[in-house]
Amino acid sequence: MEIIDLLPDLRMLRFEVGHAYLWRDPDGLTLIDTGVAGSGPEIERAVRGIGHERGDVRRVVLTHFHEDHTGSAAEVAGWGDVTVMAGRADAPVVRGEVPPPPPVLTDAPAWERELYENKPPLPPAPPVRVDRELADGDVLDFGGGTRVVGAPGHTEGSIALYLPDPRVLFTGDAVANVGGRTVLGVFNLDRSRALASFRRLAELPTDIACFGHGDPVVGDASAALRAAAAAAR
Ligand SMILES: [Zn+2]
Repeated sequence: MEIIDLLPDLRMLRFEVGHAYLWRDPDGLTLIDTGVAGSGPEIERAVRGIGHERGDVRRVVLTHFHEDHTGSAAEVAGWGDVTVMAGRADAPVVRGEVPPPPPVLTDAPAWERELYENKPPLPPAPPVRVDRELADGDVLDFGGGTRVVGAPGHTEGSIALYLPDPRVLFTGDAVANVGGRTVLGVFNLDRSRALASFRRLAELPTDIACFGHGDPVVGDASAALRAAAAAAR
Protein backbone atom coordinates (compact mmCIF):
# COMPACT_ATOMS: atom_id res chain seq x y z
CA MET A 1 0.00 0.00 0.00
CA GLU A 2 1.13 3.49 -0.88
CA ILE A 3 0.05 6.52 1.19
CA ILE A 4 -0.61 9.69 -0.80
CA ASP A 5 -1.15 13.17 0.70
CA LEU A 6 -4.04 14.87 -1.06
CA LEU A 7 -4.70 17.64 1.49
CA PRO A 8 -3.27 18.36 4.96
CA ASP A 9 -6.17 16.33 6.43
CA LEU A 10 -6.72 13.83 3.61
CA ARG A 11 -4.67 10.74 2.81
CA MET A 12 -5.27 8.20 0.10
CA LEU A 13 -4.48 4.60 1.02
CA ARG A 14 -3.59 3.28 -2.38
CA PHE A 15 -4.19 -0.46 -2.22
CA GLU A 16 -3.64 -2.80 -5.12
CA VAL A 17 -7.42 -3.23 -5.31
CA GLY A 18 -10.01 -0.87 -3.83
CA HIS A 19 -8.55 2.32 -2.36
CA ALA A 20 -9.45 3.74 1.04
CA TYR A 21 -9.22 7.33 2.30
CA LEU A 22 -8.42 8.77 5.70
CA TRP A 23 -9.88 12.12 6.76
CA ARG A 24 -8.68 13.91 9.90
CA ASP A 25 -10.78 16.16 12.14
CA PRO A 26 -9.79 17.56 15.55
CA ASP A 27 -12.00 14.93 17.25
CA GLY A 28 -10.58 11.95 15.38
CA LEU A 29 -10.33 10.13 12.09
CA THR A 30 -12.79 8.94 9.48
CA LEU A 31 -11.98 6.03 7.19
CA ILE A 32 -13.79 5.89 3.87
CA ASP A 33 -13.79 2.26 2.70
CA THR A 34 -11.39 -0.29 4.11
CA GLY A 35 -9.74 -2.31 1.32
CA VAL A 36 -9.89 -6.10 1.13
CA ALA A 37 -9.96 -8.36 4.19
CA GLY A 38 -6.63 -8.30 6.04
CA SER A 39 -5.80 -4.64 5.33
CA GLY A 40 -6.00 -3.65 9.01
CA PRO A 41 -2.23 -3.50 9.65
CA GLU A 42 -1.71 -1.29 6.60
CA ILE A 43 -4.56 1.01 7.63
CA GLU A 44 -2.98 1.23 11.08
CA ARG A 45 0.33 2.17 9.45
CA ALA A 46 -1.40 5.07 7.65
CA VAL A 47 -3.05 6.17 10.90
CA ARG A 48 0.30 6.17 12.72
CA GLY A 49 1.85 8.01 9.78
CA ILE A 50 -0.23 11.08 10.62
CA GLY A 51 0.62 10.87 14.31
CA HIS A 52 -2.48 9.04 15.53
CA GLU A 53 -3.33 5.73 17.17
CA ARG A 54 -5.78 3.24 15.74
CA GLY A 55 -8.17 4.03 18.60
CA ASP A 56 -8.54 7.52 17.09
CA VAL A 57 -10.62 6.14 14.19
CA ARG A 58 -14.15 7.34 15.04
CA ARG A 59 -16.06 6.60 11.83
CA VAL A 60 -15.94 4.07 9.01
CA VAL A 61 -18.07 4.98 6.00
CA LEU A 62 -18.59 2.23 3.41
CA THR A 63 -19.47 3.45 -0.07
CA HIS A 64 -21.00 0.05 -0.99
CA PHE A 65 -20.95 -3.62 -0.04
CA HIS A 66 -18.23 -4.96 -2.39
CA GLU A 67 -15.54 -6.98 -0.63
CA ASP A 68 -12.68 -4.73 -1.79
CA HIS A 69 -14.32 -1.84 0.10
CA THR A 70 -15.79 -3.54 3.17
CA GLY A 71 -13.15 -6.25 3.62
CA SER A 72 -11.41 -4.79 6.67
CA ALA A 73 -14.37 -2.95 8.18
CA ALA A 74 -14.99 -5.61 10.83
CA GLU A 75 -11.36 -5.42 11.93
CA VAL A 76 -11.31 -1.60 12.13
CA ALA A 77 -14.72 -1.56 13.87
CA GLY A 78 -13.06 -3.40 16.77
CA TRP A 79 -10.36 -0.78 17.32
CA GLY A 80 -12.39 1.46 19.65
CA ASP A 81 -15.37 3.77 19.64
CA VAL A 82 -16.17 3.44 15.93
CA THR A 83 -19.45 4.24 14.18
CA VAL A 84 -19.84 2.09 11.05
CA MET A 85 -21.99 3.63 8.31
CA ALA A 86 -23.26 2.34 4.96
CA GLY A 87 -26.05 3.08 2.49
CA ARG A 88 -29.42 1.74 3.67
CA ALA A 89 -29.97 -0.67 0.77
CA ASP A 90 -26.48 -2.18 1.11
CA ALA A 91 -26.55 -2.52 4.90
CA PRO A 92 -28.11 -6.04 4.97
CA VAL A 93 -25.29 -7.31 2.72
CA VAL A 94 -22.62 -5.55 4.80
CA ARG A 95 -24.07 -7.18 7.92
CA GLY A 96 -23.97 -10.58 6.24
CA GLU A 97 -27.77 -11.02 6.41
CA VAL A 98 -28.09 -11.21 2.62
CA PRO A 99 -25.52 -12.66 0.16
CA PRO A 100 -23.92 -10.08 -2.16
CA PRO A 101 -25.82 -9.98 -5.48
CA PRO A 102 -23.48 -10.36 -8.51
CA PRO A 103 -23.24 -7.61 -11.16
CA VAL A 104 -25.57 -7.64 -14.16
CA LEU A 105 -23.35 -7.31 -17.23
CA THR A 106 -25.84 -7.96 -20.04
CA ASP A 107 -25.67 -4.33 -21.24
CA ALA A 108 -21.99 -3.83 -20.33
CA PRO A 109 -19.35 -3.54 -23.08
CA ALA A 110 -17.53 -6.74 -24.10
CA TRP A 111 -14.25 -5.60 -22.48
CA GLU A 112 -16.00 -5.22 -19.14
CA ARG A 113 -17.52 -8.72 -19.32
CA GLU A 114 -14.07 -10.08 -20.19
CA LEU A 115 -12.51 -8.18 -17.29
CA TYR A 116 -15.08 -9.72 -14.94
CA GLU A 117 -14.47 -13.25 -16.23
CA ASN A 118 -10.71 -12.86 -15.64
CA LYS A 119 -11.03 -11.08 -12.31
CA PRO A 120 -8.87 -12.73 -9.65
CA PRO A 121 -11.01 -13.88 -6.71
CA LEU A 122 -10.89 -11.67 -3.61
CA PRO A 123 -11.22 -12.86 -0.02
CA PRO A 124 -14.84 -12.55 1.16
CA ALA A 125 -15.57 -9.62 3.47
CA PRO A 126 -16.29 -10.67 7.06
CA PRO A 127 -19.71 -9.33 8.09
CA VAL A 128 -19.65 -6.12 10.12
CA ARG A 129 -22.28 -4.24 12.09
CA VAL A 130 -23.79 -1.12 10.53
CA ASP A 131 -24.49 1.42 13.27
CA ARG A 132 -25.99 4.02 10.99
CA GLU A 133 -27.76 3.48 7.66
CA LEU A 134 -27.29 6.40 5.29
CA ALA A 135 -29.59 7.97 2.72
CA ASP A 136 -29.26 10.71 0.12
CA GLY A 137 -29.10 14.13 1.76
CA ASP A 138 -27.85 12.96 5.17
CA VAL A 139 -25.16 15.20 6.66
CA LEU A 140 -22.34 13.54 8.60
CA ASP A 141 -20.37 15.11 11.43
CA PHE A 142 -16.94 15.07 9.86
CA GLY A 143 -15.14 17.18 7.28
CA GLY A 144 -17.14 20.26 8.28
CA GLY A 145 -20.47 18.60 7.41
CA THR A 146 -20.15 15.90 4.79
CA ARG A 147 -23.14 15.32 2.52
CA VAL A 148 -24.26 11.83 1.56
CA VAL A 149 -25.15 11.64 -2.12
CA GLY A 150 -27.11 8.57 -3.13
CA ALA A 151 -25.45 6.95 -6.16
CA PRO A 152 -27.50 3.80 -6.90
CA GLY A 153 -26.61 1.57 -9.82
CA HIS A 154 -23.19 0.13 -9.02
CA THR A 155 -25.05 -1.40 -6.10
CA GLU A 156 -28.49 -0.41 -4.90
CA GLY A 157 -27.13 1.25 -1.75
CA SER A 158 -24.02 2.88 -3.27
CA ILE A 159 -23.30 6.30 -1.81
CA ALA A 160 -20.89 9.09 -2.62
CA LEU A 161 -19.63 11.59 -0.03
CA TYR A 162 -19.26 15.29 -0.75
CA LEU A 163 -17.33 17.76 1.43
CA PRO A 164 -18.57 21.21 0.31
CA ASP A 165 -15.82 23.32 1.87
CA PRO A 166 -12.73 21.56 0.53
CA ARG A 167 -14.90 20.56 -2.50
CA VAL A 168 -13.84 16.93 -2.22
CA LEU A 169 -15.94 14.11 -3.67
CA PHE A 170 -15.58 10.43 -2.80
CA THR A 171 -17.36 8.53 -5.55
CA GLY A 172 -16.95 4.94 -4.38
CA ASP A 173 -17.30 2.83 -7.51
CA ALA A 174 -19.93 5.06 -9.14
CA VAL A 175 -16.97 6.53 -11.05
CA ALA A 176 -13.48 5.13 -11.66
CA ASN A 177 -10.24 6.32 -13.17
CA VAL A 178 -8.80 3.67 -15.46
CA GLY A 179 -5.43 4.32 -17.08
CA GLY A 180 -5.82 8.08 -16.58
CA ARG A 181 -9.36 8.11 -18.02
CA THR A 182 -12.35 8.97 -15.84
CA VAL A 183 -15.09 6.46 -16.61
CA LEU A 184 -18.24 4.87 -15.25
CA GLY A 185 -17.37 2.29 -12.59
CA VAL A 186 -17.43 -1.33 -13.73
CA PHE A 187 -19.38 -4.39 -12.55
CA ASN A 188 -22.66 -2.58 -11.94
CA LEU A 189 -25.92 -4.11 -10.77
CA ASP A 190 -27.90 -1.63 -12.88
CA ARG A 191 -25.89 0.11 -15.58
CA SER A 192 -28.50 2.67 -16.63
CA ARG A 193 -29.06 3.81 -13.04
CA ALA A 194 -25.27 3.93 -12.56
CA LEU A 195 -25.00 6.25 -15.57
CA ALA A 196 -27.68 8.54 -14.11
CA SER A 197 -25.80 8.61 -10.79
CA PHE A 198 -22.53 9.42 -12.59
CA ARG A 199 -24.18 12.40 -14.32
CA ARG A 200 -25.60 13.63 -11.03
CA LEU A 201 -22.21 13.46 -9.29
CA ALA A 202 -20.60 15.32 -12.19
CA GLU A 203 -22.81 18.35 -11.44
CA LEU A 204 -21.24 18.88 -8.00
CA PRO A 205 -18.61 21.66 -7.82
CA THR A 206 -15.59 19.46 -7.09
CA ASP A 207 -11.87 20.21 -6.91
CA ILE A 208 -10.65 16.75 -5.85
CA ALA A 209 -12.42 13.57 -6.93
CA CYS A 210 -11.43 10.37 -5.10
CA PHE A 211 -12.35 7.03 -6.64
CA GLY A 212 -12.50 3.47 -5.39
CA HIS A 213 -10.23 2.46 -8.26
CA GLY A 214 -7.59 4.62 -9.96
CA ASP A 215 -5.81 7.87 -9.21
CA PRO A 216 -7.75 10.88 -7.89
CA VAL A 217 -8.36 13.87 -10.13
CA VAL A 218 -6.87 16.88 -8.36
CA GLY A 219 -7.78 20.43 -9.40
CA ASP A 220 -11.07 21.26 -11.15
CA ALA A 221 -12.22 17.67 -11.04
CA SER A 222 -15.68 18.91 -12.06
CA ALA A 223 -14.51 19.55 -15.61
CA ALA A 224 -13.10 16.03 -15.94
CA LEU A 225 -16.21 14.48 -14.39
CA ARG A 226 -18.61 16.44 -16.60
CA ALA A 227 -16.71 15.55 -19.76
CA ALA A 228 -16.53 11.89 -18.76
CA ALA A 229 -20.19 11.74 -17.78
CA ALA A 230 -21.24 13.33 -21.08
CA ALA A 231 -19.18 10.75 -23.00
CA ALA A 232 -20.35 7.74 -20.95
CA ARG A 233 -22.89 5.40 -22.60
ZN1 LIG B 1 -17.58 -2.00 -6.33
